[in-house]
Amino acid sequence: MARPCSVCIHKRLEDIDKALVEGETFRALSRQYLLSRDALRRHKMDHLPVAMAKAKEAEETSHGDNLLDHLGELREQAQRIAQKAEEAKNYTAALAGVRELVRIVELLAKLRGELNEAPTVNLFISAEWVSVQAVLVNALGPYPEARQAVLKALDGVR
Ligand SMILES: [Zn+2]
Repeated sequence: MARPCSVCIHKRLEDIDKALVEGETFRALSRQYLLSRDALRRHKMDHLPVAMAKAKEAEETSHGDNLLDHLGELREQAQRIAQKAEEAKNYTAALAGVRELVRIVELLAKLRGELNEAPTVNLFISAEWVSVQAVLVNALGPYPEARQAVLKALDGVR
């Protein structure tokens, strides 16, 4: 059984990793954190690249989550509007719904612009985008003119 790495279990691991990445010498770190130079060298060779890859992955995942959260909220909003449009028997409510839909379409257009600058997340975003579009179009079923207008706006976004 290999002994656990004394650097990995150190409570200042993050600081040590950062110092190693910045090119701090083993000698200085050995003195500062009371670790053997061998342990530091081994850690830098074997463990640091893994830790860095994981950190990068976590960062990318949370970035993707934020975008998905954002789209999820928009979709919920669109679904509420869909319900409202179904229930609404008066013109005022319908108009308010249309105004809200137009706002969402504008937001999505903006978001699409942001996404185009990050092509790596485009693939899994597009499923969300399609379902948002479907909700919008369905919601406007009872209002053909508004539906036409939103479809036209959506065309501009695509
Ligand atoms: Zn280690």
